[in-house]
Amino acid sequence: MEISKLNFDVIVVGAGTSGAIAARFAAQQGLKVCLIDSNTRSEIGNKVCGDGVLATIFDFLHISPPKGDEFLSLKRGFRLYSPDQKSSLTIKIPLYFVDRLRFGQRLLNEAIDSGIDEFLDKTRAINLTYNKEGVDGIKVRLKNGSKVDLKSKIVIDASGCYSTLRRTIKSTLITNEIPKRDLVLCFRSIVKLPSKSKLIQDLDYCTLIIDPDKRSPGGFIWYFPKSETIINIGLGTFIQYKGLIKEYFQKYVFDYFITQTNFDIISSAGCVVPLRRSLLSCADNGIMFVGDAACHVDPANGGGIDVGMRAGYYAAQVAKNAIYANDYSLNTLWDYNSIIMSDFGAKHAVSDIIRLFFQYKPSKDLNFIIKKNILTDTDISKLWFHGELDLNYKAIIKKVLKGITRPKLLLELKSLTKYMNKVINLYKNYPNSVNSFEKWREQEKSLFEKIYLKFILN
Ligand SMILES: Cc1cc2nc3c(=O)[nH]c(=O)nc-3n(C[C@H](O)[C@H](O)[C@H](O)COP(=O)(O)OP(=O)(O)OC[C@H]3O[C@@H](n4cnc5c(N)ncnc54)[C@H](O)[C@@H]3O)c2cc1C
Repeated sequence: MEISKLNFDVIVVGAGTSGAIAARFAAQQGLKVCLIDSNTRSEIGNKVCGDGVLATIFDFLHISPPKGDEFLSLKRGFRLYSPDQKSSLTIKIPLYFVDRLRFGQRLLNEAIDSGIDEFLDKTRAINLTYNKEGVDGIKVRLKNGSKVDLKSKIVIDASGCYSTLRRTIKSTLITNEIPKRDLVLCFRSIVKLPSKSKLIQDLDYCTLIIDPDKRSPGGFIWYFPKSETIINIGLGTFIQYKGLIKEYFQKYVFDYFITQTNFDIISSAGCVVPLRRSLLSCADNGIMFVGDAACHVDPANGGGIDVGMRAGYYAAQVAKNAIYANDYSLNTLWDYNSIIMSDFGAKHAVSDIIRLFFQYKPSKDLNFIIKKNILTDTDISKLWFHGELDLNYKAIIKKVLKGITRPKLLLELKSLTKYMNKVINLYKNYPNSVNSFEKWREQEKSLFEKIYLKFILN
């Protein structure tokens, strides 16, 4: 037997950034924690990613920021380019670039050192187990191939976008399958260039380029200078472009940015990111979902590391309260839903409308919006930080009249803000208990169906 105990307060499934933080903070609160991951210990953290982590998360969690070999650079923010790349918007938000494997390994080691009871690598969660109150543990396949039931008061699922547990849970509250339209397929390379390459010009900012018509339908192209000699370049697109993504990446990203012959490809790989608002309930009796497993990625920009770490921290706090109160039912775990919705859930719901708007607008409209300053640096930053878009229509009309008038686009922008306000108001009234959840969920569903009709099918 590779395992000494079978009973825990909390089992955390997945030792990525979200799960490592959940396990660490649960253990620091004195809970008996088991952390498992299907990957080999030395590979945990080796995730296909853009490798940027918002700096604010380290202050929020009071943990050390990246340093030593894990640290590559600190950037000032993003520049979001129009499809024709003639104009851009700047979002100032400090973010670290990290060696992703070392960063993941550090978070994992800190979780293990925080006093978790058991860490099992190469151990896969296959299914949930239930008692009459709800989830009471998981069935796992251990490293040696044997299957065993691990029992816990609470399961925290941090096993990523394709979570087996979310897809198979017996629950009327949890969304099992993420719709394909909300999944973005990515392909990226990390490339080492000759020292201080001229290609890496804007070292202070990360570049995002949107081009829904041609180069990146439904996603964006990114160019992140991780250091003076290393770049992370990639492309995200609708999942139905699966057969084309490598070709698009080669043609529109690699060959475009890498024009010289002496380079080394450190790594090239693809992965899927859920790009939508959070699961409407991230909890049920005895279980909470965090990070990509709960769709906690910001749908407007694809950043999910910091948000998942936040969610992991919150799940640990709520687990502690539930265990001290000896009540692991949804009534107590509902606090987790309330915290998620008031921290970033409502903001992400607003970002989701922006995501849909940008995914389906023709490139020429996006060129126009950015070039004519219809969306300004201030607007986009307000949207990023506060989930608000407060367009000044008189000013916009003046700006537009100086150029080619596009009344249809203006009307669409107006309805965009109208729907954003509706979403804000709905999410302000997120239910404070499960009793009124069903009614709220119906309202949410009906509002987003209208939004899909307006921005996707129109
Ligand atoms: C190409 C790309 C670029 C990105 N760029 C950025 C970026 O620059 N900045 C940013 O903030 N975000 C970025 N993201 C998003 C970010 O990578 C994710 O949101 C974040 O890594 C999610 O962390 P997680 O811990 O929730 O899930 P994951 O990192 O997916 O971790 C899940 C863990 O669970 C384990 N696991 C899976 N199934 C099981 C099972 N059944 N049993 C046991 N263990 C299991 C896996 O081995 C893994 O270790 C990017 C995503 C992609 C795809």
